[in-house]
Amino acid sequence: MGAWAVEFWYLSVGIGDQLLATGMARGARERGKRIAFGDGKKIRWDKNSPEIFRKNKNIAIPGTERQADIEWIPFYTGNRLYNKQDGRRWIWNMEFRPTPGEIFFADDELTFARSIMSGFILIEPNVPWWKSVAANKNWGKARYQAVADQLRRQGHRVAQFSYGEVRLSGVDVIYAGSFRLALAALARSKMAVLPEGGLHHGAAAVGVPAVVLFGGFIPPVVTGYAGHTNLTGGAEACGSMSLCSHCRAAMDAISVEEVMAAAQTHLKAERFCG
Ligand SMILES: [Zn+2]
Repeated sequence: MGAWAVEFWYLSVGIGDQLLATGMARGARERGKRIAFGDGKKIRWDKNSPEIFRKNKNIAIPGTERQADIEWIPFYTGNRLYNKQDGRRWIWNMEFRPTPGEIFFADDELTFARSIMSGFILIEPNVPWWKSVAANKNWGKARYQAVADQLRRQGHRVAQFSYGEVRLSGVDVIYAGSFRLALAALARSKMAVLPEGGLHHGAAAVGVPAVVLFGGFIPPVVTGYAGHTNLTGGAEACGSMSLCSHCRAAMDAISVEEVMAAAQTHLKAERFCG
């Protein structure tokens, strides 16, 4: 596994969209159907689709458009159903509700997961820094570090993935060479603290409770999951793709104490469920 592989999956844009798609396709095979994501004529996958849809029998692969069991969902690049672009901002579709996605792991991916000791708390302080919205999704290293320190003082094991500029001190590092391997590892955690984005969709897909730092960019009602605590700092979502003082203020309004309180709620629930 080279460093390039780590960079490659972390830099992939739109993984969250692929995970949303797997949620939309849930249960199709049981109904004797396969979901075709496209415009009704052509299945339109993007560069992340093959990786996220691998082994998923609910989803039709490109080239099978004419087969009898096809059911179309018009969800593809440029037609994401939950938003519409308006200049430099997104307009959110407030009617949209996500269903947790699904990842079907291969044996070697499950073997990798078993090599990681379960029961840790995953903290992800990085956001996709190359995206213009990154600053609007960044809660800040000092606050993530404070959460990590408090959780460790309570006796929890805390880990983060190996990629990214922001590295916390005192936490374990997980080296996962692909997004799928990262999710296989994430499935071994008991909870996660994450920014809104691909990994929060991933946490939902592998059934991991999470505290998700939404801030003011996107409304949790549109892309948040019921099993997560989604924190906005009290802001109305603006959808701005540019550096936004309102989003900055929203992130600043989310305190370490608020994140810790949400984390404790999930950790207690986890203990009761065994
Ligand atoms: Zn904003």
